[in-house]
Amino acid sequence: MYDPIRLSEIATQVSKGSERKYYRFRPAKFYGGIATADCVGCNLRCVYCWAWNIVNKPSQVGEFYSPAEVAEKLTKIAGRHGFSKIRVSGNEPTLNKEHLLSLLQKVPDNLLFILETNGILIGHDRDYARDLSKFKNLHVRVSLKGGDSKEFSKLTGAKPEFFSLQLKALENLEKYKVSYHPAVIDIVRDLDGLKERLSEIKPSLSESLELEPLIEYPQVLARLKKITFN
Ligand code: SF4
Repeated sequence: MYDPIRLSEIATQVSKGSERKYYRFRPAKFYGGIATADCVGCNLRCVYCWAWNIVNKPSQVGEFYSPAEVAEKLTKIAGRHGFSKIRVSGNEPTLNKEHLLSLLQKVPDNLLFILETNGILIGHDRDYARDLSKFKNLHVRVSLKGGDSKEFSKLTGAKPEFFSLQLKALENLEKYKVSYHPAVIDIVRDLDGLKERLSEIKPSLSESLELEPLIEYPQVLARLKKITFN
């Protein structure tokens, strides 16, 4: 089992100063249409990850882009397709904080930026949520990796205690009044237990919990099959 904070040091492989590695820019159908930049590098290893090959081979894919270049590409895609939303997705966008904050500064006011994150670093770095709170056209989607620490560990291979950082991220976002909602993969076993835990952070939080459908790629199903929950 690994420590996701230590694995976050992978940021040095996928960053050059304020530049970050990306492997794709594209229009996507989610959120009613959204311009998407897919970054390279993650501090988790979820068995159901659809970008498994990118996550595990960060040095072999992608190119470095400055925040201004990413903002320009996303804005152009949004303009071309009439989208009002843009996002960074693919792997974990929070790994290079300098890059992300600089990118957010460059997002035009008429576009909503959706930050899709596992929340580990927002839970770990108490200033992260405070820094994000400065951006009003930002919404954060925190993808929880299981319903409790044991399931988190089974699904990610990380040490169980780091599940608390995902919940801490929600607490920090709540504290600094950042717009956010939690999501969890729909194979979660104890959904009611998770909802109860979310209600402790904020009574209405469980109502905004998004169930993320598992994408049943053969490799994903094969990796999931190897997990035992005893
Ligand atoms: S956090 Fe996301 S990108 Fe990272 S391994 Fe998990 S599913 Fe893949």
